[in-house]
Amino acid sequence: MRTFTQLSITLLLFLAMSITAMDASAQQKRSGNPSPQAQATGTPASPQSQTAAAQKGPKPYKEVITDKAKTTKGLFTVHKVEDKFYFELADSIMKREFIAITRYAKTSTGAGFGGEIVNQAVLYFEKGPENKILLRTSLVVNMAADPTQPLAQAVENSNLDPIVAAFDIKALGKDSTSVVIDVTDFFKSENAVITMSNDAKTQYKLGSPQSDRVFIESIRSYPINTEVKVSKTFSINTAPSGSSTTRVGAERPLPATEAGVATFEFNISMLLLPKTPMHRRAFDARVGYFADSYTSFDENKQGSKKETFAVRWRLEPKPQDVEKMKRGELVEPKKPIVYYIDPATPKKWRKYLIQGIEDWNVAFEQAGFKNAVRAYEWPEKDSTMSLEDARYSVVRYFAADIENAYGPNVHDPRSGEIIESHIGWYNDVIKRLYKWYLIQTATIDPRAHNKEYDDELMGQLMRYVVCHEVGHTLGLRHNFAASAAMPVEKLRDKEFISKYGQSASIMDYSRFNYVAQPGDGITQLIPRISVYDKWAIEWGYKPILDAKDDKAEKLELNKWVRSHESDKMYLFGTESSPYDPRFQSEDLGDNAMKAGEYGIKNLKLILPHLIEWTKEDGEDYTDLATMYGELTAQFSRYMGHAAKNVGGVYETSKTYDMPGGQFEVVPRATQKEAVTFLTKNVFTTPAWLLDKDIMSRISHTGGLEVITPIQ
Ligand SMILES: [Zn+2]
Repeated sequence: MRTFTQLSITLLLFLAMSITAMDASAQQKRSGNPSPQAQATGTPASPQSQTAAAQKGPKPYKEVITDKAKTTKGLFTVHKVEDKFYFELADSIMKREFIAITRYAKTSTGAGFGGEIVNQAVLYFEKGPENKILLRTSLVVNMAADPTQPLAQAVENSNLDPIVAAFDIKALGKDSTSVVIDVTDFFKSENAVITMSNDAKTQYKLGSPQSDRVFIESIRSYPINTEVKVSKTFSINTAPSGSSTTRVGAERPLPATEAGVATFEFNISMLLLPKTPMHRRAFDARVGYFADSYTSFDENKQGSKKETFAVRWRLEPKPQDVEKMKRGELVEPKKPIVYYIDPATPKKWRKYLIQGIEDWNVAFEQAGFKNAVRAYEWPEKDSTMSLEDARYSVVRYFAADIENAYGPNVHDPRSGEIIESHIGWYNDVIKRLYKWYLIQTATIDPRAHNKEYDDELMGQLMRYVVCHEVGHTLGLRHNFAASAAMPVEKLRDKEFISKYGQSASIMDYSRFNYVAQPGDGITQLIPRISVYDKWAIEWGYKPILDAKDDKAEKLELNKWVRSHESDKMYLFGTESSPYDPRFQSEDLGDNAMKAGEYGIKNLKLILPHLIEWTKEDGEDYTDLATMYGELTAQFSRYMGHAAKNVGGVYETSKTYDMPGGQFEVVPRATQKEAVTFLTKNVFTTPAWLLDKDIMSRISHTGGLEVITPIQ
């Protein structure tokens, strides 16, 4: 059914293009212009031609936007006249900033996936000299604290926004309150703001676009956005690379090399940014938000100041609910955060993805909002909606053997307001989940012994991953401190786990409960939203309705942070600390040595079953080798977690008003405990890993190559 629909669309487009091509050549004959060059580039006819000279400057509207024009109104009013696309820009849209997001709509094999962002820029149109409209890119680097101060002029004088394109005014709108420009060549051209980056082109060894195979497929306009689809075919450089091995390593020639060309379809979303930027919430290193910044110049301050602010959605109560909110009642936001599920997602998984997204509602309740996050299946019957349309946040499903997923966001660089997100979900995340769950929990959950998990188990694992990715798209960074908030023994306590889970945050990489032992009666093995997540959402999203200025808001937020400073479950720990043993990925509990001992106990129980749990008649031992590799990798992780304690330093972000310093050496006793653990488990050869049955099937050395790298 889908194939048929796609085929019809392709056919229609193909027909439409043939007609416009015919029209173009007919027009060429009429104008008597023999130069196909001039036609293709849109430059005015040769200077020798007197008629052309007379045509300089705007023409009457009707001569440009003829009766043949197909018009769509929206952010920019778009007119399609034969093979030309015109934007009619109202005076009111001049200098209004919009964000242009360029994505792959469809790509060549091996070059990313449909839906991935390839470029992003904040742009605005402006009237220029000589009947030109200028397109500038807005660089939010330096800003004046107060636009009325004389210093604001100096800031403006030294931060001129680059002009990325200039357009002739082709005609004035009906009552001269708008101008018409021809955007055909701009969207077909290669430029810095709406095309693939030079780095990407180098990586895929792409040459220049083939001018006869660059097409604007469509331009659609909606109330706050205009969407352009462009198809470009690039030549592929087949010349051998230089001898430098690093260069060869960086290049990823495409499978399409044999054809000599590669075709890409891009979608450019131009989305109007709000006239008044959202109120910024000052970044705080003690709570894990993504951030953006600019340099602020203020006459009343001695020297400029770097202003850093959190990236988050604009979540506001409806005016009539403000009083309710102040009383502590939950209210629905004026505009909820909505995600759609890509229609390419297998039907059986959709409900789990929806659950994982809506799991965040419990966190938003702590910020005073109910039903703040909503997830829906993509309304396939609504042909007015497009997956690339920047107004819609979507969990895209990619047919790729990559065992991962990602959660990016597009935000207003002036305020940190998140505008939309396209989460990327690769098909083989499922494989990764299967491997982790077996190696970490198979002694507790017999469902992990099956070669294929039942849909309910796999669905719950997927729910965990999508929930984590959505966390990123809400502005949250990884919090690697969250698992260290849990005392190791409590990870075996059924009641504790059912209340808090195994990590204080789903934004940690804490995976599944490998500490729990058979007989503990733990059934909740998968991470979920916990104390830190609720707190982080409260910090970022709870409106501060009566702060009189930014400083007052900052002090109020500081009060919130300080009210939790003695509770480890509220601690944020960056993923980039090379010193702090509390901030680690793939770990559990507040003591890596104790957690590691429990983990090893489980690995020793799992190992003798690996043949049985991976076997399949008629298949070779690939799966056994893979899972044995996973098991030894898990063992290595336990060693690594313990090793980070040796010479470790705790780093706790603090403000002046908090007691104590930020850096503290890991206690001597803990460091000694780590060394003892390593001596016992890895420097004394872990002979138990060399299972004879397994080794005789996958190793010709009996396992020497397994032990050496671990030690
Ligand atoms: Zn992540």
